[in-house]
Amino acid sequence: MYLNIEEIRKDFPILSQKVYGNPLVYLDNGATTQKPYQVIRKMEEVYSTINANIHRGVHHLSQLATESHENARKTVQKYLNACNSNEIIFTRGTTESINLIASSFCRSQCRPGDEIIITSMEHHSNIVPWQLQKDITGIELKIIPVNEKGEISLENLEKQITSKTKLISLVHVSNVLGTINPVAKVIQLAHQHDVPVLIDAAQSVQHISVDVQALECDFLVFSSHKIYGPTGIGVLYGKEKWLDKLPPYQGGGEMIASVSFEKTTYNSLPFKFEAGTPDYVGSTALAEALNYINTLGLENINQYENELLTYATGKLMQIDGMKIFGTSSLKSSVISFLVGDIHHYDMGMLLDRMGIAVRTGHHCAQPLMEILGVEGTVRASFAFYNTKEEIDFLAESIKKVAKMFHVTTISKYR
Ligand code: PLP
Repeated sequence: MYLNIEEIRKDFPILSQKVYGNPLVYLDNGATTQKPYQVIRKMEEVYSTINANIHRGVHHLSQLATESHENARKTVQKYLNACNSNEIIFTRGTTESINLIASSFCRSQCRPGDEIIITSMEHHSNIVPWQLQKDITGIELKIIPVNEKGEISLENLEKQITSKTKLISLVHVSNVLGTINPVAKVIQLAHQHDVPVLIDAAQSVQHISVDVQALECDFLVFSSHKIYGPTGIGVLYGKEKWLDKLPPYQGGGEMIASVSFEKTTYNSLPFKFEAGTPDYVGSTALAEALNYINTLGLENINQYENELLTYATGKLMQIDGMKIFGTSSLKSSVISFLVGDIHHYDMGMLLDRMGIAVRTGHHCAQPLMEILGVEGTVRASFAFYNTKEEIDFLAESIKKVAKMFHVTTISKYR
C-alpha cells in the first residue's frame, strides 16, 4: 500500500519546526523517534481521566488504570506474537531489559568459566552488563567478529560455541552499520547446542516484523522511544519457561506474593519482574504507538524505508570522498559515513546549522569503532516520515561542507 507521507507528517508536530531558520530535517531516528499526536494525546488523556496507582486499588480509577496497563501488555504481546501476555515484562528500556537478564540469568544459570557470546557490533548496553557479570559471577565473554561489509558468519559463531556456552546475546539490526543479522539462523544453530538466545531488537521492531514464536527466540528486548512511543519504558519478552526459572532482578512492591522478616515469596509472572509502581502511562502510550504503526502497516513502512535507504545510498555514494560503513546486502535504514578527512563532529555541527539532525560520534559502540579504525562516524537514520526531498537536501548539504573543507576525489577513504 502507498503511504501518504505528506499526511503522515501532519501527525508529528515537531516535524514542522524550523532550526536556525531552516526546516527541520530529522535524520536521528536511530537515537530516538518523534511522536505522533496520537501518542502525545494518549498520555494527556491518561493523566486527565484515569490516573491512579495500579494493581493495588479497589477504586474505580485504579481499576481503569490497571486495565489500561494490562491491555497495553496484550497489545505488545500481539505485536511480537508472543504466546502469552505473561511473557511481556515492562522495563525502563532496552538497557534495563538486558541488565535484568544478565543479572538474573548469570546469577542463576552460570558458574565461573561459563561463556556468554556476543558480537563485535553490539551497542554498549549489550556489552557492559555482561562485563559487570564477569566481575560478579566469573562468566567469560566471547566475541564473534564482523567482516568488512559489517556481517557476522554462522561458521564463526558455531566455532565459538562450546559445552560452556550458556547464552548468545546479539543485536538484530546494528545501530551503526544497519546490518540485519540472520537471527533466525543464529537461534536455530544455538538451539541445536541447547543454548538460549537474547535478541536486542532496539533497532528492528520499528522497521521489520518480529514474530517471537516463529523465531523461537528465548528473550527479546526493545525501547518504546525508538518505536514512536514515550521515553522511560521498554519491553523484555521472555519465554515463560525461562522467566519462571529466573530469580527476580529488583525487590519491592508488586513483585511479591507475601513478605515476612523470615521469608518472602515472589509474585507470578509478569509481576515478579516489575518491582515498584509500573509506568502505566508509558505502557498505555506505547500501545498507542504500536496501534499507530499497525494502522500504517509494518510491511508498508518497511517497503518505503527500504526505498529511502536505496535512494540515500545512491545519492551519498556520488559525493567525492564519501565512505559508507556497513554495506551488508541485508540492511535497515541507517547510513554511517565519513567524507574525506572531515571530522564527524564538524560535519554534524555544520549540517545542524542547515537544519539537519544527524548523529555523530561512536554511537555507543566503541569496540566496533576500533574495528572500523575510526573514532566516530556521522549517522543518518531514516523513519517513514522522512522524504526523498530531505535526502536530496542532505546530499547537497554534505557537498557544501565538503567544499568548505576542500575535499577532493582523492581522500583518505577511497
Ligand atoms: N541497543 C541498540 C542496538 C541501540 O541502538 C540502543 C540505543 O541506541 C540500545 C540498545 C539502548 O537503548 P536504550 O538507551 O533505549 O536503553
